[in-house]
Amino acid sequence: MDLSRCAIHSITHKPWTLAQCCNKFAAAGVAGISVWHNVLKPISLDEAAKIVRGSGLQVPALVRGGFFVSSEPDKRRAAIDENKACIDEAAALGAGMVVLVVGAQPGLPLADARQQVCDGIAACLDHARACKVKLAIEPLHPIYAADRSCINRMAEARAVCEQLQHPMLGIALDVYHVWWDPDLEHEIELAGEQGTLLALHVSDWRQVLRDPLNDRGLMGDGCIDIRGIRRLVEKANFRGLIEVEVFSDQYWAMNQDEYLKLVCRRFADCV
Ligand code: ZN
Repeated sequence: MDLSRCAIHSITHKPWTLAQCCNKFAAAGVAGISVWHNVLKPISLDEAAKIVRGSGLQVPALVRGGFFVSSEPDKRRAAIDENKACIDEAAALGAGMVVLVVGAQPGLPLADARQQVCDGIAACLDHARACKVKLAIEPLHPIYAADRSCINRMAEARAVCEQLQHPMLGIALDVYHVWWDPDLEHEIELAGEQGTLLALHVSDWRQVLRDPLNDRGLMGDGCIDIRGIRRLVEKANFRGLIEVEVFSDQYWAMNQDEYLKLVCRRFADCV
C-alpha cells in the first residue's frame, strides 16, 4: 500500500495522544502528521516537539489558527497575538504551515468580517516569515459562514492572497468544503499559477449529514470526486502530502487501531 503521500490529522484519531498518533502513523507507513492543538494541551511544547521529531514523520501543518473576526478591537488584537504564538508552536514542531480558520461573527456583515481577516493576517505575516512558517487560509463550506468562516470559496481566499501579495500566504484546499464549487477547477489553476496552493485535505461528504460538524465521511463514504480533485491539484503542480482530516463521532467510537487500517486502505483505494 503506497502511503508515501499520506498524512493524517491527529484529530482524525481524536481518542489518541500525540505520542500514540505519531507511533502508530509511523508504524503504518504513513508519511506525515498534521498536529491539532488538543493533543498539545496535555504536554509541554518541548515534549511535543521531541515526540514529533523522534517519529520521523513530516509535519505539513499545525491546526489551527485564525478566528480574526470580532466587533471588539481588543479581541481582534488578542487574536493576532494568539496567531503569532501559534506560528511559534508550528516552528517548534517543524510544521510547514499554520492552517487558518479565519472566523466570522453572527450579525457582522461578511464583507466587514473579510476585511478584518485581511488585516489580522497582514499583522502576522512578518512573524510568519521570521519563523519560516506559511499561513494557509482554509475556505470553509457555507454552512459555517455564520460563526466560523467568512471565507467560503477558493475565490475569497484568493482575494486575500492577492490583496496581501506575500510569499508566506496561501490556501489550504479541503475537499469537504469546496467540492461543490463550480469554479473549483479554475481556482485551482489560478492558485497553481500564483504559487498559493499549500495543502490538500481529504475526507468525504455524506449524502445525509447526521451532524454538521462531527459526521464527516471517510474517503469513499460519500459523493466527493476526490481523485478528480487530486488530478486537478497535481496538474497545478501541487506536490505536498495529502492530509486525511475526518471529524466523526462514529469513527472516534471505533477501535482506533482498526480504524487506522481502514483509513490507510481508503487512502490507497479512493485518493
Ligand atoms: Zn481541512
